Amino acid sequence: MEKRKISILGSTGSIGTQTLEVIEKLQDKFEIVALSGGSNTKLLEEQARKFKPKYICIGNSNEKLDIKGIKTLYGPEGLNEICSNKENDIILVAVSGKIGLRPTLKAIENKITIALANKETLVMAGDIVIQKAKENGVNILPVDSEHSAIHQCIKDISQVDKLIITASGGPFLHKTVDEMKKATVKEALAHPRWHMGKKITVDSATLMNKGLEIIEAHHLFNMPYDRIDVVIHPQSIVHSAIEYKDGSVIAQLGLPSMHIPIQYAITYPNRLQGIKTKSFSFSEIARLDFEKPDFEKFPALNMAYQAGKIGGSMTVCLNAANEEAVFAFLDGKINLYDIYKITNTMLEKHQVIKNPTIDEIFEIDNEIRTKTKELCG
Ligand code: NDP
Ligand code: MG
Repeated sequence: MEKRKISILGSTGSIGTQTLEVIEKLQDKFEIVALSGGSNTKLLEEQARKFKPKYICIGNSNEKLDIKGIKTLYGPEGLNEICSNKENDIILVAVSGKIGLRPTLKAIENKITIALANKETLVMAGDIVIQKAKENGVNILPVDSEHSAIHQCIKDISQVDKLIITASGGPFLHKTVDEMKKATVKEALAHPRWHMGKKITVDSATLMNKGLEIIEAHHLFNMPYDRIDVVIHPQSIVHSAIEYKDGSVIAQLGLPSMHIPIQYAITYPNRLQGIKTKSFSFSEIARLDFEKPDFEKFPALNMAYQAGKIGGSMTVCLNAANEEAVFAFLDGKINLYDIYKITNTMLEKHQVIKNPTIDEIFEIDNEIRTKTKELCG
C-alpha cells in the first residue's frame, strides 16, 4: 500500500484514539495531515507532539496551543479548512453528533475519500451526502463495525436480498422493563462488549444505536428498510451478514474490536497485519447465540424503522430528539424509558419536510433540540 495522507476529525474520542493506535502500528503507511479535538486540549496536544501533524483543530475551547511547526485552527471553520485541503487522501470523521455533517460534505466536494464513523451524518442527511458522494465519485468507507462487516461481505449489491445487522443487546438485554425504568446512568453506561463515547453507549442500551444503524445502512447500501433485519447476538463475534438472492448467507466475524473496522476503512482495499495481536479461534468462542429483538421492550427499533420509511426531515427529528433526551438522562433529569417517550412525542408532532436542504436540516435540528429540552425539564 502506498503511503496515505490522513486527517482525523475527533482524534481525542474513543474512535479517534483507536485510529491513532492503528496508525502507530502502520507508521510507514500513513502521514497525518491534521488532528482535531473538542475540549480535551491536553490529549490533543499529546497527540500532536507524538504524531506531528501539520494542523490541529480545537473544536470546543479557546485555549491556545502553540506547538512548533503546527498550525492551530479553531471550531467548525477549522474543520472545514481541514476538509478543503486536497493534500488529504482520506479523512476519518469520528467527531460525535451533528458537528460531523458539514466537514463531511466539504471533504466530498473536494473529492477526498471519507472513512465515516459519525453515523449522525447519514441519519440527518443521508440522501444529500450519498448523492453528493456519487456526483463527486467519492468513496464513503464505513467505520461502524456492522456496516464495515456488510461492506466486507458484499461483492455485488444488486444480488443481495437482505442485510442482517447484529446487535449485542446492550446491558439490559435480559432485564425487565421495570428494571430498565429504574436504571441508573452508571448501569446504562456499563456496556458488556464495547467501550465507546457516552452518547452512543446509552443508545446501545436503548437499542437506538441499532435504530440509527438501520438508517445508516439504508443510505450506505441503498437498501429498502423492509430488507434490513436486526438480530440480537450477545457475543458480538458476527459483526453483521448479508443474504444473497439464492439464499447464501455471508457474514463477517472477528473478536469484538473497533481496531479491525477502523483499519479496514483507512487501508481499504488492503489487508495488513497492523494491530492484530491474536488469531481468531472458533473453538475458544465455542458458541454463538442469536435471538429476535424484543420490539416492545426496545421501542427505539420500530421508531427508527418508521422514521426511516417516512424519510425526509423525520430522521433529523429522530436524531435530534433522541440525542437531547439522552443528554437529559445523563444529567439525571429523566429516566431511561423517558428517552423513548420524549423522542416519540417529538416524532408524532413533527411536520415532515420531504427533501430538506442542509440549511433546513440544521434549522429543524435546532428547533427539535429546543423543544426536546423543554420537554425534558
Ligand atoms: P467520543 O465522545 O468518544 O468522541 C467524540 C469526538 O468528537 C472527540 O474527539 C471530541 O473531542 C470531539 N468533539 C465533540 N464535540 C466537538 C465539537 N463541538 N467540535 C469538535 N469536536 C468535537 O465519541 P465516539 O468516538 O464514541 O464516537 C464518535 C462517532 O463515531 C459518533 O458519531 C459515534 O456514533 C460513532 N461510532 C462510534 C463507535 C465507537 O465504538 N465508539 C462505533 C461506531 C460509530 P473531545 O473529547 O476533545 O471533547
Ligand atoms: Mg455499530
